[in-house]
Amino acid sequence: MAKTTSINPYSGKEIETYREHTKKEVSEILEKANKRFYKWRETSFAERKELMLAAASELKKNKQEYARTMTAEIGKPITQSIAEIEKCAWVCEYYAEEAKNHLQNETVETDAQKSYTKYEPLGVVLAVMPWNYPFWQVFRFAAPALMAGNIGVLKHASNVFGSALNIEKVFKRAGFPENCFTTVLVGSNKIEAIIENPIVKAVTLTGSGPAGSAVAKTAGKHIKKTVLELGGNNALVVLKDCDIEKTIETCVQARFQNTGQSCIAGKRLLLEKSIAEEFTKKLLLKVRELKSGDPMDEQTYIGTLAREDLASELEDQVTKSIDQGAKLLLGGKRQGAYFEPTVLGDVTPKMTVFKEETFGPALAITTFEDVDKAIELSNDSKFGLGVSIFTKDTHAAEKIAYRFDEGAVFINELVKSDPRLPFGGVKESGYGRELSKHGIREFVNRKTVYIK
Ligand code: NAP
Repeated sequence: MAKTTSINPYSGKEIETYREHTKKEVSEILEKANKRFYKWRETSFAERKELMLAAASELKKNKQEYARTMTAEIGKPITQSIAEIEKCAWVCEYYAEEAKNHLQNETVETDAQKSYTKYEPLGVVLAVMPWNYPFWQVFRFAAPALMAGNIGVLKHASNVFGSALNIEKVFKRAGFPENCFTTVLVGSNKIEAIIENPIVKAVTLTGSGPAGSAVAKTAGKHIKKTVLELGGNNALVVLKDCDIEKTIETCVQARFQNTGQSCIAGKRLLLEKSIAEEFTKKLLLKVRELKSGDPMDEQTYIGTLAREDLASELEDQVTKSIDQGAKLLLGGKRQGAYFEPTVLGDVTPKMTVFKEETFGPALAITTFEDVDKAIELSNDSKFGLGVSIFTKDTHAAEKIAYRFDEGAVFINELVKSDPRLPFGGVKESGYGRELSKHGIREFVNRKTVYIK
């Protein structure tokens, strides 16, 4: 019988061993989910709203419990785990209030007596999710999906099965009917068969490019809709007229929060040459102040990476880049799953830390002479999730926003997700959108109704 063991990356100790669901159990879960769908779609927005608000209350009430599991599983600093749970409550509240508006029938004037678009749920949607924000990634899918009348089945990353079961618990405790949201505890090698099951109508995946590609391939074979939220290599474009102190604060947060393990983290710092020296000096002082330590300690800002192999991968990328000519300005050392906050200077587009996504606390600095070069450098990436531009001339920055091949352009702010705004990427960062009205309309049948 297949088993998965979760290990605390900070202590190195085993947390729990989970027995994976068998093929038969997975089929039963899907059958039950499908049965539930035909009842769930009959519920009104008002009924769903009440339950979703109860889920938000449950998250707030037991945030410590949920946050502690998350911190134990991935080494995420506890204050950041709590903030993540609170953000999940926000997305539940947002969709509880807004789902009905976003899915209103839309009348279209034609030669018919009456014609309109109606938004109907698709049924059972499979969510394949990553470990880096174990609650948030799931809730930003689950809140709109359930409010639209769909059913969620979660296949979470194998190192966060405790959080996966906790998410199921949130919906149970909130009073959702059985099987509205369930978790399958299986490895990624079982996903293909789940997607092939006719009960599954669509798939959303947040994760790496290879995982996205594998899931989309199977879904495509069976003509099932997918939404993919994949990697990113966001640039932080710092122009010479920026507010240096504020920009440094934002850039440090953009790169180092969640110990650097975020798809939308600002991984490449692009600095206008004339301020590069002053900016770098001040930035290093700030990065030095980041407190590393026990993730359960409220004072800790930098925890461990989620697994030792991930820290080792980052070490390889940093070492390779130094060999290629990058200058190590700070950090660079690994101890088990812990990786020091690291800053590399003199980085060029040919170097590993520029070309590849670094999923940890390592910032790569490249300088530029003018705005055109900054845009060229920013776009020199296979990813296109988002970019931040820092300048006092917000009008000029807004005017050049269209030249960035990205899903989002943030001016004087780090790229962040907000339930009210669409979230997603272009190029190899994926397709489709989550959050806002665009997210809730991804997994619906836009049905045309025509009455002569
Ligand atoms: P990952 O290895 O791709 O895993 C993500 C999920 O996909 C897990 O549930 C994993 O299951 C599953 N998976 C892995 N390989 C698969 C395959 N060949 N076929 C089907 N499913 C597969 O990613 P991760 O390491 O957890 O997360 C880091 C990546 O996610 C980074 O690239 C990051 O940028 C990206 N990310 C993107 C966003 C976004 O919104 N765009 C947000 C967060 C993270 P197992 O754990 O069982 O292998």
